[in-house]
Amino acid sequence: MIATTPEQIKALRAAGKILAGVLADVAALAKEGVSTAELDLACEHAIRARGAVPAFLDYQPDGASYPFPASLCVALNDEVVHGIPNEKRILRRGDILTIDAGLSYQGYFVDAARTVCIGECDQGAHKLIAAAKEALQGAIAAARPGAHTGDIGAVVAGIAGKYNLDVVRDLGGHGVGTTPHEKPYIPNEGRRGEGEELVAGMVLAVEPILAEGKGDIVLDEDEWTYRTEDGKRAVHVEETILITEGGAEVLTA
Ligand code: MG
Repeated sequence: MIATTPEQIKALRAAGKILAGVLADVAALAKEGVSTAELDLACEHAIRARGAVPAFLDYQPDGASYPFPASLCVALNDEVVHGIPNEKRILRRGDILTIDAGLSYQGYFVDAARTVCIGECDQGAHKLIAAAKEALQGAIAAARPGAHTGDIGAVVAGIAGKYNLDVVRDLGGHGVGTTPHEKPYIPNEGRRGEGEELVAGMVLAVEPILAEGKGDIVLDEDEWTYRTEDGKRAVHVEETILITEGGAEVLTA
């Protein structure tokens, strides 16, 4: 969406603040021995307790064969995005966990993801997470009126390359605000000056996804979970931002 009124911006800020709190709550529960289904229940509770509505629960975008059955998307290790929480999947020491949630508040949608280590992670995991966070900050810094979606992709791919990591090319960010997924598509690679031009008021979910090996992905039999084709790990981080006159404001910080 393109937010044009102070009321819209106020509601989007409130929605973003709620989601940041929800993800902090869920991240705090993500410990060795906890199932991903427990995290999903906590996520749904945290969203509803704040007067918001889960955006991913029962969401069925074009191309999906059935609605997503949870409020929280989880992705562990070689899983890239859209993993379905499961009571049998217990977090283990050394896992890299991404938690990704969306919600609507007063009719406005926001979307964000955090990645955490369960217990102690290895150096490779720390590098992958640090690079993904740097790519996200770089993407946000590149987002301003007059910039193009390709500028964001170029920054993300450039930072991945600096760390000898790959980007997941088949997935990216998107507009958000009046629905969970809107135009424009925000690629995780690109050329400066290409793609849609950003304008003030645009609400965007920016989500770099970096891979330790190659960024090629495959879809699981559950028809939701994407994982890396080579079985190496991937990390996904995401914020919803508002394009302002002078740059971008992170709504979900
Ligand atoms: Mg998203």
